[in-house]
Formats: sequence, C-alpha cells, structure tokens
Amino acid sequence: MIIPKEPRLTEKQYKEVVSIVEEYGCKIQVIEGHHRTIYAVLGEERETIMVNRILGLDYIDRFDAVDSPFKLMDIHSELAHHRIVIGGRMLGEQPFVIAGHCTIDPKNPNLFLETAHAVKEAGASAIRGGVWKPRTMPYSFQGDDQSMKILIDAKEQTGIPVDTEVMDQHQLEVAVEAGVDILQVGARNALNYSLLKKIGELTADKPISVLLKRSMGMGPINEFIAAAEYIAAGGNPDVMLCPRGTAPTMDGYRNHPDEAITPLLKEKTWAPVVVDPSHSVGRAKFVPSAALAAMAYGADGVIVETHCQPSKGIGDDPKQSITPEVLQKLITDINSIWEIRRSYNKVAQTV
Ligand code: PEP
Ligand code: MN
Repeated sequence: MIIPKEPRLTEKQYKEVVSIVEEYGCKIQVIEGHHRTIYAVLGEERETIMVNRILGLDYIDRFDAVDSPFKLMDIHSELAHHRIVIGGRMLGEQPFVIAGHCTIDPKNPNLFLETAHAVKEAGASAIRGGVWKPRTMPYSFQGDDQSMKILIDAKEQTGIPVDTEVMDQHQLEVAVEAGVDILQVGARNALNYSLLKKIGELTADKPISVLLKRSMGMGPINEFIAAAEYIAAGGNPDVMLCPRGTAPTMDGYRNHPDEAITPLLKEKTWAPVVVDPSHSVGRAKFVPSAALAAMAYGADGVIVETHCQPSKGIGDDPKQSITPEVLQKLITDINSIWEIRRSYNKVAQTV
C-alpha cells in the first residue's frame, strides 16, 4: 500500500510508480477516498528492492505491506478508513435498509412502483427488485430484461438508489448502463470469481456498490472475505457482505440462519455487513426477529423482501415478503437496536 505525501500522485508520479512495480510483476490498484487517494500494490508487495525504490521517491510518505491474504478488505489495510456512501447515506453511520420485491413482475409494473413508494415512506434507504432471477428449475420464471425499465422508473420516481442481482456479463453491462446503484451477487454466484473480477473492473470509478451474498455452502469466514477481495482487486472496493443463510437448512427455516457471523466478519474486515433475513428464515412471520437479531449482532443494515401485496407477488414474494407496514415498524425497532448496541461500545470492547 503506497501512501503519497500529497493527497494524490500527479500523472507523472503515478506513471513512475507503475513502471517500478511492473518490473516486479505487480499492479497498482488506485483507491480514491474522500480525502486522499491510496495506491495498493497487487502481487508480491514484499520484494525488498521494489519497496526501497518506491520509498526512495521523494513524493512518497509510506509503504505499508499488509500482512494478510486480503490486501484491500482486511481490517488493518489502509482502506479501513474507506467509507461506502450510497444515495448520500454513509454505511456505518446509520442503519442501511434495502427493501422491495424479490422479483419484479414485468406484467404488473404498478405493483412494483407502489411498493417502491411505500418502502421509501417506511424509511428504507434503497429499493430492491429482481430483474433477472436464479431459479432452481429452468422452467420457472427467469426474469425479464423489460423489468430493468420498471426498476429505473422506481429510482426516478422515488429518488432513492436501487439494487438488483446480476448473474452474467450481459446483465452486468445492462445494469451498469441503466444506472443501477447496487449490484447484488447472489448466493449461487458468490464463488464465481470471473464474474466477481468483471464486476470490479466494470464498476471501477463508478458510483456503484456491490452487495455480495454469502454462498449457501461457504464455510470459513476467510472464503467470504476473499470473494469480496476479488471485486476490490478488480477495481471497486465498495463491497458489502451479506450473510443470507447457509445449507444444510434448519428444520422449519429455508436455510440455516447465519447473522451470528457478523461480529466474526467485523473482526477481520472493514466491509459493511448487510444481512438478508428473508432468504435465511424464508417465512415472512420470522423475518422481523431475524432482522433485529442481525442488528443486535452488529450488522450495518438489512435487505428485506417487502411487497405491498405479497399474495400477488411472484418468485419468493408470496411466502417471505413482509408488508410496508411491518417494514415501517421494523425500521423503527432497528433504529432502537442500533442505539442499544452503540451504548455497549461505551462500556465494553465490542465489534
Ligand atoms: C434474492 O435476493 O432474491 C436471491 C435470489 O437471493 P440469494 O442469492 O441469496 O438466494
Ligand atoms: Mn428472493
């Protein structure tokens, strides 16, 4: 990690630094912060001669080698001071709640728009809506390119950011071009490293964040953070980690609830944690408890499937969407838990 004396390198200085690290088979990843830009060295950054040559440049302040497999996402990386801001809200400053349909029904755009307005009224920070869906059965509704227009209409009408899942490069390009603010990587693609790299590359220097779900079979915490590192190393460090339940399932729940890993993630990475209680428990009546538990564990926010008329929904909506009325109460209670948890920071060493 190269830290210059001035807030950023000039064009000429940058080229000089790049040409030195390339001699040692490394690359520079530029990370633009609010106040200063830092330059991560990707590759074997402990090469002594390279480090000394960089330190010998009179415009360089420090060269910090990160002793971690996660050069960018590690809690001790220079990026630990990096903050993700979406729609003017900074993650970590107040609870970030994403709410909306599992799946947008292209035949009924008004239903989605009605939900979008209702979740905004309820206090949501961003709207979710599945344009393309990963379905277990190839004959189930797979989503529709037409739904992108409906999602963007919701963004324009409400003025708050929107989230949708992308599963391949075509969808990624359409979503970036359309102006989607949060790209969701689903549980099925959380280990698709080519997609993760591509997302990092195509969203580098764009005001787009990534919500990376935990895959159903992801065991070690490091495997999850490493997947986020792929996106950051590709060029976009604005990654939120999203536990969403794992397999094998727990009897009665859709998956095995995993919001309890939140503090373990926070010990190792600075990345915000936004938990998905909907896919974890899989039934609307259990969702508020799971969402509140996630906040009690220290999550920065939740993503909750919400529908103004769940029984008219498609995809997961009829079984696991809560209504905007429930969401409104939930957001009030999330804010209370946020304050309660913060009060512990004053008396005990919590993460
Ligand atoms: C979803 O968010 O609707 C979804 C399909 O989630 P997951 O990838 O966690 O199954
Ligand atoms: Mn869903």
